[in-house]
Amino acid sequence: MCRLKKISILGSTGSIGTQTLDVAAMHPDSFEIDGLAAGSNTALLLEQVRRFRPRRVSVASKELADDIRPQLPAGVELFSGDEGLVQIAAGGDADYVVTAVMGSVGLRSTLAAIEAGRDIGLANKETLVTAGHLVTELARCKGVNLLPIDSEHSAIFQCLNGERAQDIASITLTASGGSFRDLTREQLRNVTVEDALRHPNWAMGAKITIDSATMVNKGLEVIEAHWLFGLPYEQIGVVLHPESIIHSFVEFRDSSIIAQLGNPDMRVPIQYALTYPQRWHSPAQRLSLAQAGQLTFREMDFARYPALRLAIECGKIGGTATTAFNAANEVAVARFLRRDIPFVRIEEILEEVLERHTAESHPSLEQIEDCDRAARTLAHSL
Ligand code: NDP
Ligand code: MG
Repeated sequence: MCRLKKISILGSTGSIGTQTLDVAAMHPDSFEIDGLAAGSNTALLLEQVRRFRPRRVSVASKELADDIRPQLPAGVELFSGDEGLVQIAAGGDADYVVTAVMGSVGLRSTLAAIEAGRDIGLANKETLVTAGHLVTELARCKGVNLLPIDSEHSAIFQCLNGERAQDIASITLTASGGSFRDLTREQLRNVTVEDALRHPNWAMGAKITIDSATMVNKGLEVIEAHWLFGLPYEQIGVVLHPESIIHSFVEFRDSSIIAQLGNPDMRVPIQYALTYPQRWHSPAQRLSLAQAGQLTFREMDFARYPALRLAIECGKIGGTATTAFNAANEVAVARFLRRDIPFVRIEEILEEVLERHTAESHPSLEQIEDCDRAARTLAHSL
């Protein structure tokens, strides 16, 4: 066992945040919770505070902070807003930060955690999509490890253990196909929010569940893989694999393929990101290949999933193209969840925002934030 690790979690009340706390609770002698940042689910945050006794917490707004202040144990420091996220990421004395907020709102706090020299368990893929060059350059500069939590990236990371970069022929991300994988484009016209939120294999936050149905999630993951593994887009593929048993695989130049398998359970990649390079016991259900019987695969159909094609095109353009793509998608998904637009309109909004976008290459943080704001405004107005 390694020494006691002090962890802070950005987005502790979400799907990844709560599962990270589950993993920490399974190994109470190895992990201590230093800071927790939530959005607006203060009831759950207070429960987490009682159970895990963090020294510092944060909520999305000053009003929410005023609400919970009287209920916090003495000595717990309380912060709020974007500044609160940065405080949890970079203040206190955590040595490891799990980034599990949803969306590019996590960018500044992720950069602050890296600047403070903390290793990162990275779930918040939107930060790499919106500003991958800034995050990876700073991590390199500070000697900080970016440990992937996303299951596909954890799989690739595990397959690459001990391998040389020049021996990689390609990496392939598997995609479950999301809630609508068996529907035609015509049938997508009438789907509801409730239909979209019913993912066949994974229980996740609402936004990523919708992203899986549009295949935007796989597009974000291709871009995430480009930054995490330093590979050109030509070496990153996607294949449809409805069972979600093979989490992703790498082909090497001698034609050998190494894959990582397991039942879908996010606690496994979360735990590996926390214990790397060690592997610890996990209560995850063991995979029996004999019971699984067969694993199936289908070529990715880019006409069926136009948003995946667009995401990869944005990745190849680089600079602010992926920033605009991500921001437009966050707004379009929020509008769909509010029942303001139909499902297929998400893809159209992405196309329309990108058509009007002129990409800046190598943007600064300020240019990224300006582009993010402009793409959001446009996506709201369409
Ligand atoms: P959820 O929606 O379940 O959780 C999001 C978390 O972020 C919540 O704790 C929420 O707080 C918090 N949050 C949202 N906005 C703010 C804000 N402005 N300030 C502070 N906190 C905020 O999302 P997931 O856990 O599903 O996803 C989180 C990230 O992990 C995403 O980037 C996703 O793509 C990635 N990911 C998720 C996987 C999964 O299985 N869920 C798999 C792989 C990657 P509150 O609820 O209190 O408002
Ligand atoms: Mg994933």
